[in-house]
Amino acid sequence: MQSQKDFILEVVQRSHRHLTAEQILVLARQQKPRIAVGTVYRNLSALCQEGRLRSVDIPGSPAIYDATLSEHDHLVCRRCGKLRDVTMPPELLSLLRDATGEDVNAYSLNISYICPECREAER
Ligand SMILES: [Zn+2]
Ligand SMILES: [Zn+2]
Repeated sequence: MQSQKDFILEVVQRSHRHLTAEQILVLARQQKPRIAVGTVYRNLSALCQEGRLRSVDIPGSPAIYDATLSEHDHLVCRRCGKLRDVTMPPELLSLLRDATGEDVNAYSLNISYICPECREAER
């Protein structure tokens, strides 16, 4: 039988989106209506610790879970909070090293913008 943990991982992977724990709970309950909130939260943090899920910290909003583990950064819509994956050029790391004078080895970027859907809705 599939473990609850694998089930929750699969829910996030299959959505192809960036989801909050609350959104994951809603999706999980479509298949397992009786799954407990605590089970979902507990397994999400275990999956992050095991490196099978990534969590994205956006100031002022709940943690967002991401099943895409390859190196990438995020564009964050200021209006709706939706995330879009972006890959920065490798030169950025050397720019950061030059700018800080330190042997920087990693960074994480959340770039604020207004997404095309929100821009469209504003017209
Ligand atoms: Zn938006
Ligand atoms: Zn992502």
